[in-house]
Amino acid sequence: MTEKSIRSVVIVGGGPAGWMAAASLARFLENMNIRIRLVESEQIGTVGVCEATIPPIMDFIRVLGIDENEIIREIKATFKLGIAYRDWTRPGDYFFHPFGPTGFGMGPVSFNAYWLKMFLEGKAARLEEYSMQAVAAEQGRFMRPVHAPSTPLNKITYALHFDASLFARYLRKFAQARGVVRTEGKVQHVALRPEDGFIESVTLENGETIEGDLFIDCSGFRGLLIEETLKTGYEDLTHWLPCDRALAVPSEHAGPPPSYTLVTAREAGWQWRIPLQHRVGNGHVYCSGFMSDDKAREILLANLESKPLNDPLPLRFTTGRRKKAWNKNCVALGLASGFLEPLESTSIHLIHRGIAMLLKFFPDRNFEKADIDRYNKIFEFEFGRVRDFLLLHYTHTEREGPFWEHCRNIQLTDGLQEKIELFRSHGRILREDTELFPVQSWLFVMIGQNIVPHGYDPLADSLDPQKIKANLDDIRAVIRKCAAAMPSHQEFIDKNCSITPPSLV
Ligand SMILES: Cc1cc2nc3c(=O)[nH]c(=O)nc-3n(C[C@H](O)[C@H](O)[C@H](O)COP(=O)(O)OP(=O)(O)OC[C@H]3O[C@@H](n4cnc5c(N)ncnc54)[C@H](O)[C@@H]3O)c2cc1C
Repeated sequence: MTEKSIRSVVIVGGGPAGWMAAASLARFLENMNIRIRLVESEQIGTVGVCEATIPPIMDFIRVLGIDENEIIREIKATFKLGIAYRDWTRPGDYFFHPFGPTGFGMGPVSFNAYWLKMFLEGKAARLEEYSMQAVAAEQGRFMRPVHAPSTPLNKITYALHFDASLFARYLRKFAQARGVVRTEGKVQHVALRPEDGFIESVTLENGETIEGDLFIDCSGFRGLLIEETLKTGYEDLTHWLPCDRALAVPSEHAGPPPSYTLVTAREAGWQWRIPLQHRVGNGHVYCSGFMSDDKAREILLANLESKPLNDPLPLRFTTGRRKKAWNKNCVALGLASGFLEPLESTSIHLIHRGIAMLLKFFPDRNFEKADIDRYNKIFEFEFGRVRDFLLLHYTHTEREGPFWEHCRNIQLTDGLQEKIELFRSHGRILREDTELFPVQSWLFVMIGQNIVPHGYDPLADSLDPQKIKANLDDIRAVIRKCAAAMPSHQEFIDKNCSITPPSLV
Protein backbone atom coordinates (compact mmCIF):
# COMPACT_ATOMS: atom_id res chain seq x y z
CA MET A 1 0.00 0.00 0.00
CA THR A 2 1.19 3.50 -0.78
CA GLU A 3 -0.37 6.81 0.04
CA LYS A 4 -1.69 6.87 -3.51
CA SER A 5 -3.43 3.48 -3.31
CA ILE A 6 -7.13 3.20 -4.03
CA ARG A 7 -9.00 3.17 -0.73
CA SER A 8 -12.56 2.79 -1.86
CA VAL A 9 -14.49 1.57 -4.90
CA VAL A 10 -18.09 2.56 -5.50
CA ILE A 11 -20.13 0.44 -7.90
CA VAL A 12 -23.37 1.95 -9.14
CA GLY A 13 -25.80 -0.73 -10.31
CA GLY A 14 -26.68 -4.21 -9.11
CA GLY A 15 -27.42 -6.09 -12.32
CA PRO A 16 -25.11 -8.84 -13.58
CA ALA A 17 -22.38 -6.26 -14.34
CA GLY A 18 -22.44 -4.71 -10.87
CA TRP A 19 -22.40 -7.98 -8.97
CA MET A 20 -19.84 -9.62 -11.29
CA ALA A 21 -17.56 -6.64 -10.61
CA ALA A 22 -18.26 -6.67 -6.88
CA ALA A 23 -17.64 -10.41 -6.56
CA SER A 24 -14.41 -10.26 -8.57
CA LEU A 25 -12.98 -7.24 -6.78
CA ALA A 26 -13.88 -8.68 -3.39
CA ARG A 27 -12.14 -11.92 -4.30
CA PHE A 28 -9.01 -10.53 -5.96
CA LEU A 29 -8.41 -7.39 -3.92
CA GLU A 30 -9.13 -9.07 -0.61
CA ASN A 31 -5.76 -8.27 0.96
CA MET A 32 -5.62 -4.67 -0.18
CA ASN A 33 -7.84 -3.12 2.44
CA ILE A 34 -10.14 -1.49 -0.13
CA ARG A 35 -13.72 -0.68 0.81
CA ILE A 36 -16.14 -1.83 -1.85
CA ARG A 37 -19.64 -0.45 -1.87
CA LEU A 38 -22.44 -1.23 -4.32
CA VAL A 39 -25.50 0.95 -4.73
CA GLU A 40 -28.55 -0.39 -6.48
CA SER A 41 -32.17 0.55 -6.72
CA GLU A 42 -34.85 -2.12 -6.65
CA GLN A 43 -37.29 0.52 -7.76
CA ILE A 44 -35.36 0.98 -11.02
CA GLY A 45 -34.65 -2.74 -11.37
CA THR A 46 -32.41 -4.50 -13.86
CA VAL A 47 -32.84 -5.19 -17.55
CA GLY A 48 -33.36 -8.82 -16.51
CA VAL A 49 -33.11 -10.49 -19.91
CA CYS A 50 -29.99 -12.46 -20.37
CA GLU A 51 -29.82 -16.16 -20.60
CA ALA A 52 -27.09 -17.40 -22.90
CA THR A 53 -23.34 -17.33 -22.36
CA ILE A 54 -20.13 -18.53 -24.02
CA PRO A 55 -17.39 -20.79 -22.59
CA PRO A 56 -15.24 -18.17 -20.79
CA ILE A 57 -18.08 -17.85 -18.26
CA MET A 58 -16.87 -21.17 -16.85
CA ASP A 59 -13.47 -19.58 -16.16
CA PHE A 60 -15.19 -16.69 -14.44
CA ILE A 61 -16.97 -19.14 -12.13
CA ARG A 62 -13.87 -21.25 -11.54
CA VAL A 63 -11.48 -18.43 -10.72
CA LEU A 64 -13.88 -17.16 -8.10
CA GLY A 65 -13.63 -20.62 -6.54
CA ILE A 66 -17.37 -21.24 -6.90
CA ASP A 67 -18.60 -24.81 -6.99
CA GLU A 68 -19.97 -25.32 -10.50
CA ASN A 69 -22.77 -27.71 -9.62
CA GLU A 70 -23.89 -25.50 -6.75
CA ILE A 71 -24.18 -22.35 -8.84
CA ILE A 72 -25.89 -24.25 -11.67
CA ARG A 73 -28.56 -25.44 -9.24
CA GLU A 74 -29.02 -21.98 -7.76
CA ILE A 75 -29.32 -20.18 -11.07
CA LYS A 76 -31.38 -22.97 -12.67
CA ALA A 77 -28.88 -23.31 -15.46
CA THR A 78 -28.54 -25.80 -18.29
CA PHE A 79 -25.50 -26.52 -20.41
CA LYS A 80 -24.79 -25.04 -23.82
CA LEU A 81 -22.57 -26.59 -26.50
CA GLY A 82 -23.21 -23.99 -29.18
CA ILE A 83 -25.87 -22.24 -31.23
CA ALA A 84 -28.12 -23.81 -33.86
CA TYR A 85 -29.07 -21.44 -36.68
CA ARG A 86 -32.36 -22.33 -38.31
CA ASP A 87 -33.58 -20.75 -41.56
CA TRP A 88 -30.65 -18.37 -41.34
CA THR A 89 -28.81 -18.73 -44.61
CA ARG A 90 -32.12 -19.36 -46.39
CA PRO A 91 -35.49 -20.78 -45.27
CA GLY A 92 -35.21 -24.49 -44.53
CA ASP A 93 -31.44 -24.31 -44.00
CA TYR A 94 -29.66 -25.23 -40.79
CA PHE A 95 -26.15 -24.84 -39.48
CA PHE A 96 -24.52 -25.12 -36.08
CA HIS A 97 -21.90 -22.94 -34.45
CA PRO A 98 -20.32 -25.22 -31.86
CA PHE A 99 -17.86 -24.33 -29.11
CA GLY A 100 -14.51 -26.00 -28.87
CA PRO A 101 -12.05 -27.56 -31.26
CA THR A 102 -12.92 -29.54 -34.38
CA GLY A 103 -10.84 -32.48 -35.58
CA PHE A 104 -7.06 -32.30 -35.27
CA GLY A 105 -4.13 -31.39 -37.49
CA MET A 106 -2.04 -33.86 -39.51
CA GLY A 107 1.58 -32.83 -39.07
CA PRO A 108 1.91 -29.21 -40.19
CA VAL A 109 -1.51 -29.21 -41.88
CA SER A 110 -4.47 -27.97 -39.89
CA PHE A 111 -7.79 -29.83 -39.79
CA ASN A 112 -9.43 -26.88 -41.52
CA ALA A 113 -6.99 -27.05 -44.43
CA TYR A 114 -7.36 -30.73 -45.19
CA TRP A 115 -11.09 -30.80 -44.48
CA LEU A 116 -11.59 -27.90 -46.89
CA LYS A 117 -9.56 -29.60 -49.61
CA MET A 118 -11.72 -32.72 -49.34
CA PHE A 119 -14.92 -30.70 -48.98
CA LEU A 120 -14.20 -28.78 -52.18
CA GLU A 121 -13.63 -32.10 -53.92
CA GLY A 122 -16.94 -33.45 -52.56
CA LYS A 123 -15.17 -36.03 -50.39
CA ALA A 124 -15.82 -34.70 -46.89
CA ALA A 125 -19.00 -34.55 -44.83
CA ARG A 126 -20.54 -31.40 -43.33
CA LEU A 127 -18.26 -29.62 -40.90
CA GLU A 128 -20.66 -30.27 -38.00
CA GLU A 129 -19.96 -33.99 -38.21
CA TYR A 130 -16.37 -33.44 -37.10
CA SER A 131 -17.30 -31.44 -34.00
CA MET A 132 -17.92 -33.32 -30.76
CA GLN A 133 -20.01 -30.44 -29.47
CA ALA A 134 -22.19 -30.21 -32.58
CA VAL A 135 -22.89 -33.95 -32.71
CA ALA A 136 -23.59 -34.19 -28.96
CA ALA A 137 -25.92 -31.18 -29.13
CA GLU A 138 -27.77 -32.59 -32.10
CA GLN A 139 -28.33 -35.80 -30.16
CA GLY A 140 -29.43 -33.98 -26.99
CA ARG A 141 -26.40 -35.17 -25.04
CA PHE A 142 -23.98 -33.58 -22.63
CA MET A 143 -21.11 -34.34 -20.33
CA ARG A 144 -18.15 -32.42 -18.99
CA PRO A 145 -14.71 -33.25 -20.38
CA VAL A 146 -13.13 -36.35 -18.94
CA HIS A 147 -9.55 -37.49 -18.89
CA ALA A 148 -9.60 -39.61 -22.03
CA PRO A 149 -6.47 -38.62 -23.93
CA SER A 150 -6.66 -38.69 -27.72
CA THR A 151 -10.45 -38.61 -27.72
CA PRO A 152 -12.73 -35.62 -28.25
CA LEU A 153 -14.19 -36.25 -24.76
CA ASN A 154 -11.04 -34.70 -23.42
CA LYS A 155 -11.86 -31.29 -24.80
CA ILE A 156 -15.61 -30.87 -24.48
CA THR A 157 -16.15 -27.13 -24.30
CA TYR A 158 -19.35 -25.66 -22.89
CA ALA A 159 -21.10 -22.64 -21.47
CA LEU A 160 -24.37 -22.15 -19.61
CA HIS A 161 -27.91 -20.95 -20.15
CA PHE A 162 -29.08 -19.24 -16.98
CA ASP A 163 -31.36 -16.70 -15.45
CA ALA A 164 -29.13 -13.62 -15.23
CA SER A 165 -31.10 -12.17 -12.32
CA LEU A 166 -30.43 -15.33 -10.31
CA PHE A 167 -26.79 -15.17 -11.38
CA ALA A 168 -26.56 -11.61 -10.05
CA ARG A 169 -28.29 -12.69 -6.83
CA TYR A 170 -25.84 -15.54 -6.34
CA LEU A 171 -22.87 -13.23 -6.86
CA ARG A 172 -24.40 -10.73 -4.47
CA LYS A 173 -24.30 -13.33 -1.68
CA PHE A 174 -20.75 -14.21 -2.68
CA ALA A 175 -19.62 -10.57 -2.66
CA GLN A 176 -21.41 -9.64 0.57
CA ALA A 177 -19.85 -12.63 2.31
CA ARG A 178 -16.47 -11.13 1.35
CA GLY A 179 -17.15 -7.70 2.71
CA VAL A 180 -18.90 -5.80 -0.08
CA VAL A 181 -21.41 -3.39 1.40
CA ARG A 182 -24.67 -3.13 -0.48
CA THR A 183 -26.77 0.01 -0.27
CA GLU A 184 -30.32 0.10 -1.49
CA GLY A 185 -31.13 3.50 -2.96
CA LYS A 186 -31.41 5.65 -6.00
CA VAL A 187 -28.45 7.80 -6.97
CA GLN A 188 -29.83 11.26 -7.49
CA HIS A 189 -26.77 13.43 -7.77
CA VAL A 190 -23.18 12.90 -8.82
CA ALA A 191 -20.56 15.40 -7.65
CA LEU A 192 -17.40 16.15 -9.62
CA ARG A 193 -14.13 17.48 -8.28
CA PRO A 194 -13.86 21.05 -9.51
CA GLU A 195 -10.14 20.83 -10.26
CA ASP A 196 -10.17 17.90 -12.71
CA GLY A 197 -13.77 16.78 -13.26
CA PHE A 198 -13.18 13.41 -11.61
CA ILE A 199 -16.13 11.88 -9.78
CA GLU A 200 -16.02 12.70 -6.09
CA SER A 201 -19.22 11.20 -4.72
CA VAL A 202 -22.75 10.06 -5.40
CA THR A 203 -25.71 11.22 -3.37
CA LEU A 204 -28.76 9.05 -2.86
CA GLU A 205 -32.40 10.06 -2.75
CA ASN A 206 -32.33 9.79 1.05
CA GLY A 207 -29.53 12.37 1.20
CA GLU A 208 -26.69 9.98 1.97
CA THR A 209 -23.45 10.84 0.17
CA ILE A 210 -20.98 8.12 -0.74
CA GLU A 211 -17.44 9.15 -1.63
CA GLY A 212 -15.00 7.00 -3.55
CA ASP A 213 -11.67 6.91 -5.35
CA LEU A 214 -12.72 4.63 -8.20
CA PHE A 215 -16.28 4.49 -9.54
CA ILE A 216 -17.64 1.62 -11.59
CA ASP A 217 -20.67 2.47 -13.66
CA CYS A 218 -22.93 -0.58 -13.97
CA SER A 219 -26.13 1.45 -14.18
CA GLY A 220 -27.34 -0.08 -17.44
CA PHE A 221 -28.10 1.53 -20.80
CA ARG A 222 -28.32 5.05 -19.35
CA GLY A 223 -24.72 5.15 -18.15
CA LEU A 224 -25.49 7.33 -15.17
CA LEU A 225 -21.85 8.12 -14.41
CA ILE A 226 -20.02 7.56 -17.68
CA GLU A 227 -22.53 9.37 -19.90
CA GLU A 228 -25.07 11.38 -17.96
CA THR A 229 -22.31 12.78 -15.72
CA LEU A 230 -19.02 12.58 -17.63
CA LYS A 231 -20.55 13.04 -21.12
CA THR A 232 -18.14 10.52 -22.57
CA GLY A 233 -20.00 10.08 -25.85
CA TYR A 234 -21.49 7.04 -27.56
CA GLU A 235 -20.55 5.58 -30.92
CA ASP A 236 -23.74 4.48 -32.62
CA LEU A 237 -23.18 1.28 -34.62
CA THR A 238 -26.67 0.76 -35.99
CA HIS A 239 -25.49 1.33 -39.55
CA TRP A 240 -23.74 -2.03 -39.17
CA LEU A 241 -26.14 -3.84 -36.88
CA PRO A 242 -29.59 -2.33 -37.46
CA CYS A 243 -31.72 -4.36 -35.00
CA ASP A 244 -32.87 -2.02 -32.26
CA ARG A 245 -35.72 -3.71 -30.40
CA ALA A 246 -36.49 -6.94 -28.64
CA LEU A 247 -39.40 -8.67 -26.99
CA ALA A 248 -38.60 -11.26 -24.33
CA VAL A 249 -40.99 -13.79 -22.89
CA PRO A 250 -40.52 -16.87 -20.73
CA SER A 251 -42.58 -19.94 -21.53
CA GLU A 252 -43.36 -23.12 -19.67
CA HIS A 253 -40.80 -25.85 -19.24
CA ALA A 254 -41.05 -27.93 -22.42
CA GLY A 255 -39.54 -31.32 -21.69
CA PRO A 256 -35.87 -32.35 -21.75
CA PRO A 257 -33.77 -29.26 -22.49
CA PRO A 258 -31.60 -29.19 -25.61
CA SER A 259 -27.91 -28.52 -24.91
CA TYR A 260 -27.81 -25.56 -27.29
CA THR A 261 -29.34 -22.17 -27.98
CA LEU A 262 -31.71 -22.12 -30.94
CA VAL A 263 -31.74 -19.05 -33.18
CA THR A 264 -34.35 -18.86 -35.94
CA ALA A 265 -34.27 -16.13 -38.56
CA ARG A 266 -37.47 -14.10 -38.92
CA GLU A 267 -38.71 -11.53 -41.41
CA ALA A 268 -36.83 -8.60 -39.86
CA GLY A 269 -34.60 -10.18 -37.24
CA TRP A 270 -34.45 -13.42 -35.31
CA GLN A 271 -35.96 -15.36 -32.44
CA TRP A 272 -34.12 -17.11 -29.61
CA ARG A 273 -35.06 -20.17 -27.61
CA ILE A 274 -33.02 -20.85 -24.51
CA PRO A 275 -33.84 -23.79 -22.24
CA LEU A 276 -33.41 -23.32 -18.49
CA GLN A 277 -34.16 -26.00 -15.90
CA HIS A 278 -37.51 -24.54 -14.90
CA ARG A 279 -38.66 -22.69 -18.03
CA VAL A 280 -37.75 -21.69 -21.55
CA GLY A 281 -36.49 -18.21 -22.40
CA ASN A 282 -37.70 -16.78 -25.70
CA GLY A 283 -37.21 -13.51 -27.46
CA HIS A 284 -37.51 -11.76 -30.77
CA VAL A 285 -34.84 -9.27 -31.80
CA TYR A 286 -35.92 -7.08 -34.70
CA CYS A 287 -35.38 -3.86 -36.56
CA SER A 288 -38.07 -1.25 -36.00
CA GLY A 289 -37.44 0.24 -39.44
CA PHE A 290 -38.70 -2.98 -41.02
CA MET A 291 -41.23 -4.34 -38.54
CA SER A 292 -43.87 -2.94 -36.22
CA ASP A 293 -43.90 -3.86 -32.54
CA ASP A 294 -47.31 -5.50 -32.95
CA LYS A 295 -46.12 -7.70 -35.77
CA ALA A 296 -42.97 -8.63 -33.86
CA ARG A 297 -45.09 -9.64 -30.87
CA GLU A 298 -47.43 -11.67 -33.04
CA ILE A 299 -44.50 -13.55 -34.63
CA LEU A 300 -42.90 -14.26 -31.26
CA LEU A 301 -46.07 -15.58 -29.66
CA ALA A 302 -47.04 -17.62 -32.71
CA ASN A 303 -43.70 -19.39 -32.66
CA LEU A 304 -43.38 -20.39 -29.01
CA GLU A 305 -43.09 -24.09 -28.34
CA SER A 306 -44.78 -23.86 -24.95
CA LYS A 307 -47.28 -21.64 -23.15
CA PRO A 308 -46.05 -18.11 -22.34
CA LEU A 309 -45.73 -17.32 -18.65
CA ASN A 310 -45.97 -13.53 -19.00
CA ASP A 311 -46.67 -10.82 -21.49
CA PRO A 312 -43.64 -10.15 -23.72
CA LEU A 313 -41.33 -7.52 -22.25
CA PRO A 314 -40.42 -4.81 -24.79
CA LEU A 315 -36.85 -3.52 -24.89
CA ARG A 316 -35.23 -0.83 -27.00
CA PHE A 317 -31.54 -0.43 -27.58
CA THR A 318 -29.05 1.44 -29.68
CA THR A 319 -26.22 -0.79 -30.74
CA GLY A 320 -22.95 0.90 -29.99
CA ARG A 321 -20.27 1.59 -27.45
CA ARG A 322 -19.10 4.27 -25.14
CA LYS A 323 -16.24 6.21 -26.78
CA LYS A 324 -14.18 5.48 -23.69
CA ALA A 325 -15.16 2.62 -21.41
CA TRP A 326 -12.80 4.11 -18.84
CA ASN A 327 -12.98 7.88 -18.42
CA LYS A 328 -11.15 9.69 -15.58
CA ASN A 329 -11.88 7.66 -12.42
CA CYS A 330 -14.92 5.90 -13.85
CA VAL A 331 -14.97 2.50 -15.56
CA ALA A 332 -18.19 1.49 -17.29
CA LEU A 333 -19.12 -2.18 -17.41
CA GLY A 334 -22.05 -3.99 -18.98
CA LEU A 335 -24.79 -2.07 -20.72
CA ALA A 336 -23.32 1.21 -19.45
CA SER A 337 -20.26 0.54 -21.64
CA GLY A 338 -22.17 -0.39 -24.78
CA PHE A 339 -24.36 -3.03 -26.33
CA LEU A 340 -24.19 -5.50 -29.18
CA GLU A 341 -27.26 -7.56 -29.91
CA PRO A 342 -27.31 -10.95 -28.17
CA LEU A 343 -27.04 -13.15 -31.29
CA GLU A 344 -23.77 -14.71 -30.12
CA SER A 345 -24.35 -14.24 -26.36
CA THR A 346 -21.40 -11.92 -25.87
CA SER A 347 -22.52 -9.25 -23.38
CA ILE A 348 -21.77 -11.12 -20.17
CA HIS A 349 -18.42 -12.04 -21.64
CA LEU A 350 -17.59 -8.40 -22.34
CA ILE A 351 -18.35 -7.62 -18.69
CA HIS A 352 -16.01 -10.41 -17.67
CA ARG A 353 -13.30 -9.04 -19.97
CA GLY A 354 -13.81 -5.53 -18.63
CA ILE A 355 -13.31 -6.78 -15.08
CA ALA A 356 -10.25 -8.84 -16.03
CA MET A 357 -8.70 -5.81 -17.73
CA LEU A 358 -9.56 -3.54 -14.83
CA LEU A 359 -7.67 -5.93 -12.56
CA LYS A 360 -4.77 -6.00 -15.04
CA PHE A 361 -4.60 -2.20 -15.16
CA PHE A 362 -5.79 -1.60 -11.61
CA PRO A 363 -5.00 2.04 -10.91
CA ASP A 364 -3.83 4.04 -7.98
CA ARG A 365 -5.17 7.51 -7.33
CA ASN A 366 -2.90 8.98 -9.99
CA PHE A 367 -5.05 7.28 -12.65
CA GLU A 368 -2.20 7.12 -15.13
CA LYS A 369 -3.25 8.04 -18.64
CA ALA A 370 -1.14 5.28 -20.22
CA ASP A 371 -3.06 2.59 -18.32
CA ILE A 372 -6.44 4.10 -19.13
CA ASP A 373 -5.58 4.54 -22.81
CA ARG A 374 -4.45 0.94 -23.11
CA TYR A 375 -7.60 -0.32 -21.38
CA ASN A 376 -9.75 1.66 -23.78
CA LYS A 377 -7.77 0.47 -26.80
CA ILE A 378 -8.21 -3.19 -25.84
CA PHE A 379 -11.90 -2.70 -25.13
CA GLU A 380 -12.42 -0.99 -28.48
CA PHE A 381 -10.51 -3.70 -30.32
CA GLU A 382 -12.35 -6.62 -28.69
CA PHE A 383 -15.73 -4.94 -29.03
CA GLY A 384 -14.99 -4.23 -32.69
CA ARG A 385 -14.10 -7.83 -33.38
CA VAL A 386 -17.35 -9.04 -31.83
CA ARG A 387 -19.22 -6.46 -33.92
CA ASP A 388 -17.52 -7.85 -37.04
CA PHE A 389 -18.44 -11.40 -36.13
CA LEU A 390 -22.07 -10.39 -35.68
CA LEU A 391 -22.02 -8.41 -38.91
CA LEU A 392 -20.80 -11.51 -40.75
CA HIS A 393 -24.10 -13.19 -39.81
CA TYR A 394 -26.13 -10.51 -41.57
CA THR A 395 -24.29 -9.75 -44.75
CA HIS A 396 -24.16 -13.15 -46.41
CA THR A 397 -27.57 -14.71 -45.98
CA GLU A 398 -29.61 -15.47 -49.07
CA ARG A 399 -32.91 -14.69 -47.34
CA GLU A 400 -35.39 -12.54 -49.18
CA GLY A 401 -37.35 -9.54 -47.92
CA PRO A 402 -36.50 -5.86 -47.40
CA PHE A 403 -34.70 -6.30 -44.08
CA TRP A 404 -32.36 -9.02 -45.31
CA GLU A 405 -31.77 -7.20 -48.57
CA HIS A 406 -30.86 -4.13 -46.57
CA CYS A 407 -28.43 -6.22 -44.51
CA ARG A 408 -26.78 -7.68 -47.60
CA ASN A 409 -26.00 -4.14 -48.74
CA ILE A 410 -24.39 -3.02 -45.50
CA GLN A 411 -20.82 -2.00 -46.14
CA LEU A 412 -18.41 -4.37 -44.43
CA THR A 413 -15.87 -3.05 -41.95
CA ASP A 414 -12.28 -3.20 -43.21
CA GLY A 415 -11.47 -5.94 -40.71
CA LEU A 416 -14.36 -8.13 -41.82
CA GLN A 417 -13.70 -7.49 -45.48
CA GLU A 418 -10.14 -8.67 -45.03
CA LYS A 419 -11.21 -11.73 -43.06
CA ILE A 420 -13.64 -12.79 -45.76
CA GLU A 421 -11.19 -12.16 -48.60
CA LEU A 422 -8.51 -14.16 -46.84
CA PHE A 423 -10.97 -16.98 -46.32
CA ARG A 424 -12.23 -16.89 -49.88
CA SER A 425 -8.74 -17.17 -51.33
CA HIS A 426 -7.40 -20.26 -49.48
CA GLY A 427 -9.71 -20.83 -46.54
CA ARG A 428 -7.36 -19.11 -44.13
CA ILE A 429 -8.59 -17.50 -40.92
CA LEU A 430 -6.34 -15.65 -38.50
CA ARG A 431 -7.21 -14.82 -34.91
CA GLU A 432 -5.69 -11.50 -33.97
CA ASP A 433 -4.40 -10.58 -30.52
CA THR A 434 -7.10 -10.95 -27.92
CA GLU A 435 -10.01 -11.19 -30.33
CA LEU A 436 -12.76 -13.27 -28.77
CA PHE A 437 -13.94 -15.74 -31.35
CA PRO A 438 -11.53 -18.49 -32.31
CA VAL A 439 -10.78 -19.62 -35.85
CA GLN A 440 -13.32 -22.45 -35.57
CA SER A 441 -16.17 -20.03 -34.85
CA TRP A 442 -15.43 -17.99 -37.95
CA LEU A 443 -15.10 -21.16 -39.98
CA PHE A 444 -18.46 -22.59 -38.92
CA VAL A 445 -20.32 -19.34 -39.49
CA MET A 446 -18.69 -18.68 -42.87
CA ILE A 447 -19.24 -22.20 -44.17
CA GLY A 448 -22.70 -22.25 -42.59
CA GLN A 449 -23.56 -19.22 -44.66
CA ASN A 450 -22.22 -20.69 -47.82
CA ILE A 451 -19.08 -18.58 -48.05
CA VAL A 452 -16.98 -21.13 -49.87
CA PRO A 453 -13.30 -20.46 -50.61
CA HIS A 454 -12.04 -20.61 -54.20
CA GLY A 455 -9.10 -22.71 -53.10
CA TYR A 456 -7.53 -24.45 -50.15
CA ASP A 457 -4.22 -24.15 -48.36
CA PRO A 458 -1.62 -25.64 -50.74
CA LEU A 459 0.05 -27.33 -47.77
CA ALA A 460 -2.87 -29.79 -47.74
CA ASP A 461 -1.41 -31.24 -50.95
CA SER A 462 1.55 -32.48 -48.95
CA LEU A 463 -0.72 -35.16 -47.46
CA ASP A 464 -1.75 -38.43 -49.07
CA PRO A 465 -5.45 -37.98 -49.99
CA GLN A 466 -6.23 -41.52 -48.90
CA LYS A 467 -4.75 -40.85 -45.49
CA ILE A 468 -6.80 -37.67 -45.21
CA LYS A 469 -9.95 -39.54 -46.13
CA ALA A 470 -9.19 -42.30 -43.61
CA ASN A 471 -8.47 -39.67 -40.96
CA LEU A 472 -11.71 -37.79 -41.62
CA ASP A 473 -13.70 -41.04 -41.50
CA ASP A 474 -12.01 -41.95 -38.28
CA ILE A 475 -12.73 -38.58 -36.63
CA ARG A 476 -16.41 -38.89 -37.54
CA ALA A 477 -16.66 -42.45 -36.31
CA VAL A 478 -14.94 -41.68 -33.00
CA ILE A 479 -17.17 -38.66 -32.41
CA ARG A 480 -20.30 -40.70 -33.05
CA LYS A 481 -19.10 -43.42 -30.72
CA CYS A 482 -18.28 -40.88 -28.01
CA ALA A 483 -21.66 -39.16 -28.42
CA ALA A 484 -23.45 -42.50 -28.09
CA ALA A 485 -21.64 -43.11 -24.80
CA MET A 486 -22.61 -39.72 -23.35
CA PRO A 487 -25.63 -39.29 -21.07
CA SER A 488 -28.50 -37.19 -22.28
CA HIS A 489 -28.36 -33.56 -21.24
CA GLN A 490 -31.27 -34.12 -18.85
CA GLU A 491 -29.64 -37.22 -17.32
CA PHE A 492 -26.44 -35.28 -16.74
CA ILE A 493 -28.31 -32.46 -15.01
CA ASP A 494 -30.37 -34.89 -12.92
CA LYS A 495 -27.24 -36.61 -11.72
CA ASN A 496 -25.14 -33.54 -10.99
CA CYS A 497 -26.94 -30.27 -10.62
CA SER A 498 -30.70 -30.55 -10.82
CA ILE A 499 -32.94 -28.00 -9.10
CA THR A 500 -35.18 -30.94 -8.22
CA PRO A 501 -33.94 -32.88 -5.18
CA PRO A 502 -32.52 -36.26 -6.29
CA SER A 503 -35.27 -38.22 -4.51
CA LEU A 504 -37.88 -36.55 -6.70
CA VAL A 505 -36.04 -37.04 -10.00
C1 LIG B 1 -32.96 -8.36 -25.44
C2 LIG B 1 -31.67 -8.63 -24.73
C3 LIG B 1 -31.20 -9.94 -24.64
C4 LIG B 1 -29.99 -10.20 -24.03
N1 LIG B 1 -29.51 -11.49 -23.99
C5 LIG B 1 -28.25 -11.70 -23.55
C6 LIG B 1 -27.69 -13.00 -23.58
O1 LIG B 1 -28.34 -13.97 -23.96
N2 LIG B 1 -26.42 -13.15 -23.18
C7 LIG B 1 -25.65 -12.11 -22.72
O2 LIG B 1 -24.48 -12.28 -22.39
N3 LIG B 1 -26.20 -10.88 -22.61
C8 LIG B 1 -27.45 -10.66 -23.03
N4 LIG B 1 -27.98 -9.41 -22.94
C9 LIG B 1 -27.21 -8.35 -22.26
C10 LIG B 1 -27.42 -8.49 -20.76
O3 LIG B 1 -28.78 -8.35 -20.46
C11 LIG B 1 -26.61 -7.50 -19.97
O4 LIG B 1 -25.28 -7.46 -20.43
C12 LIG B 1 -26.56 -7.88 -18.52
O5 LIG B 1 -27.83 -8.12 -18.02
C13 LIG B 1 -25.87 -6.81 -17.72
O6 LIG B 1 -26.71 -5.74 -17.48
P1 LIG B 1 -26.17 -4.56 -16.55
O7 LIG B 1 -25.82 -5.12 -15.23
O8 LIG B 1 -25.15 -3.82 -17.30
O9 LIG B 1 -27.43 -3.60 -16.45
P2 LIG B 1 -28.83 -3.79 -15.71
O10 LIG B 1 -29.17 -5.21 -15.55
O11 LIG B 1 -29.79 -2.92 -16.43
O12 LIG B 1 -28.58 -3.20 -14.27
C14 LIG B 1 -28.52 -1.82 -14.04
C15 LIG B 1 -28.46 -1.58 -12.54
O13 LIG B 1 -28.25 -0.20 -12.32
C16 LIG B 1 -29.13 0.23 -11.29
N5 LIG B 1 -29.37 1.68 -11.42
C17 LIG B 1 -29.67 2.38 -12.53
N6 LIG B 1 -29.84 3.68 -12.23
C18 LIG B 1 -29.62 3.79 -10.89
C19 LIG B 1 -29.66 4.85 -9.96
N7 LIG B 1 -29.95 6.10 -10.34
N8 LIG B 1 -29.39 4.58 -8.68
C20 LIG B 1 -29.10 3.33 -8.25
N9 LIG B 1 -29.04 2.29 -9.07
C21 LIG B 1 -29.31 2.51 -10.38
C22 LIG B 1 -30.37 -0.62 -11.49
O14 LIG B 1 -31.15 -0.66 -10.35
C23 LIG B 1 -29.73 -1.97 -11.79
O15 LIG B 1 -29.39 -2.60 -10.58
C24 LIG B 1 -29.22 -9.13 -23.49
C25 LIG B 1 -29.73 -7.83 -23.53
C26 LIG B 1 -30.93 -7.57 -24.16
C27 LIG B 1 -31.44 -6.16 -24.21
